Amino acid sequence: MKPQTNEITVRSILTKSGIPGMKYCVNPYVGCAHACLYCYATFMKRFTGHHEPWGSFVDVKINAPEVLRRQLKRAERGTVMVSSVTDAYQAVEARYKLTRKCLEVLSLFKFPVSILTKSPLVTRDMDIISKMDEVEVGLTITTDDDRTRKIFEPSAPPVAARIDALKKLHQAGINTYVFIGPLLPMDPESLAKQISPYAGSILIDRMNYVSKTERVYKNNRLEKWLDADFIDDIISRLKKNLSANDISIIC
Ligand code: SF4
Repeated sequence: MKPQTNEITVRSILTKSGIPGMKYCVNPYVGCAHACLYCYATFMKRFTGHHEPWGSFVDVKINAPEVLRRQLKRAERGTVMVSSVTDAYQAVEARYKLTRKCLEVLSLFKFPVSILTKSPLVTRDMDIISKMDEVEVGLTITTDDDRTRKIFEPSAPPVAARIDALKKLHQAGINTYVFIGPLLPMDPESLAKQISPYAGSILIDRMNYVSKTERVYKNNRLEKWLDADFIDDIISRLKKNLSANDISIIC
């Protein structure tokens, strides 16, 4: 489904972050067309006056690069996460290029940047990213199975496209990581084998949004994937087969 896009202007784009290791966040869009069923960012609807289903709208902050430039002139240096409550490389970014322009500004001011996305569109900006001194790019890859991806992340890019993007970034010498979160039904040995060669580090997180997704697990006969002991076993099989030195389990 193509989302309804609305162009808006904002007075602030660089916001303080409570995420460990991130001093700031930049979110060039409100809403996310990837429409993941477990999305934690749906609370943004309350703050932005949206009543439509999550995934059906995207507000485009058309003055984001100019506002960012103004704010960075006065900001204390610190790592900027791109993005925290939207995917900065969702499809509308191909048209608006706001994330790209924000990266250019961040590069100019030499702020460290941490990108996290599900989209291979991030590879479009490798020319900017590869010139940054302090930068990492994470691909969220929650499963190796595209049937599972279609159930939980219906409008997000396919698994293979994300792994291919990870490979391209790694081969360009860019620091990469994979966020396996929330961990979805998968073959852990297969996923580990596919991402290991290209991921500098790995973060693993459990499904923390069971109230949003329990029905989906049940309807698809995936209930065992909600069992904590079963997931512990999957995580230990993942760890055994991942070659990255730095593997962190969030919870
Ligand atoms: S990609 Fe992230 S922000 Fe977008 S819908 Fe999925 S979980 Fe939410």
